[in-house]
Amino acid sequence: MISFQSKLPKVNQSIFSVMSQMAATENALNLAQGFPEFNPPSALIEAVHSAMLNNKNQYAPMPGYLSFREQIALKERDLHQLSLNPETEITVVPGATVGLFVAIQTLVNLGDEVIIIEPAYDCYEPAITLAGGKTIRVSMDLNTFQIPWDELKSKVNSKTKLIIVNTPHNPLGTVFTHDDWQNLNNIVQQSNAFVISDEVYEHMVFDGNNHISVLNIEGLKDRSIKVSSFGKTYHCTGWKMGYLSANAEITAELRKVYQFLAFACNSAAQAGIESFMKIDNNWEVELSKFYEQKRNLFRSHLQGSIWKMLPCNGSYFQVLSFEGHTALNDMDYAVQLTKLSKIASIPISAFCNNREKTNLLRFCFAKNDDTIIQAANILCNL
Ligand code: PMP
Ligand code: GLN
Repeated sequence: MISFQSKLPKVNQSIFSVMSQMAATENALNLAQGFPEFNPPSALIEAVHSAMLNNKNQYAPMPGYLSFREQIALKERDLHQLSLNPETEITVVPGATVGLFVAIQTLVNLGDEVIIIEPAYDCYEPAITLAGGKTIRVSMDLNTFQIPWDELKSKVNSKTKLIIVNTPHNPLGTVFTHDDWQNLNNIVQQSNAFVISDEVYEHMVFDGNNHISVLNIEGLKDRSIKVSSFGKTYHCTGWKMGYLSANAEITAELRKVYQFLAFACNSAAQAGIESFMKIDNNWEVELSKFYEQKRNLFRSHLQGSIWKMLPCNGSYFQVLSFEGHTALNDMDYAVQLTKLSKIASIPISAFCNNREKTNLLRFCFAKNDDTIIQAANILCNL
């Protein structure tokens, strides 16, 4: 046997795969892995089908069809007041996970430090490690869900190449305010750090609030990459479609990496999504209301139960505290709930390195209303 040195010795199967498999084996409701229970709109499915019938089956241009990127630029203008040049500032990629990998490989060199804020989405650190970087973690306060900006500032030094942020946040459902962006801006102005902003839940922001993108912030926009995902927005996580937005200089560099990672992504899905964007101009605006109602439904059915509901301002995740229910830690409790109560969730400690365990579980409410009610009833009857 040839000896083999793992590049990612600490990595195990992702918590999302673990809990989804357990939910299937145990025949439990799966509110664990984040994906919608419903299909994409039929007009979108028809548009992709029609693109396939109309010869959109061979390689698309490396950065994506230009007409598609033009459509994306229009959306970014109308919804986020961004002015992006579709030729030089938008790159279509096969999902946000690939987009994040490309962005991290583009920016991080051997020995660079990258700051991430935990709870943090699971794909950031392995990509940093593979680029030869060192991950520096700061922890959000799990009672207030506030980012410790002073601590983050104290971690920035001459080796800091990159800071990764995520708004709306998975798993906590927090949404960056203007003050959050200004805090970040003040910190990076005194450094050489770039910013990657993971904005895959950008069209799920509740209670009349608006999503603010990193590219809206003067001072940040020329040192940042925004990561977007069509999977979240159009209920098609299985299609793995997304895009990166950044200024022309950064985009030219990230396209060099992307060219040799995937070269191009699904042509029929690109053409189909482009057509759908033209057909339904209001989809993204309606999406926030759609998920806000689902959040409200879930919360209203949990009212008066033993679960403490933490705030959820965006994303499709609701975090619940089980403090006082059990002496079990979050992982063991998530397993017990899946096996005995037939409801699967994600323990928040899975997003953390700095914390052994928490008393918080994440539930995905991108589900049909009857599933949401069934899930809440299970939780209320514990
Ligand atoms: N970032 C965050 C915060 C996510 O939650 C996800 C997936 N749900 C991704 C990135 C990856 O998105 P995609 O499925 O488009 O790769
Ligand atoms: N982003 C999804 C979640 O947070 C999971 C995606 C995956 O399984 N990689 O649940």
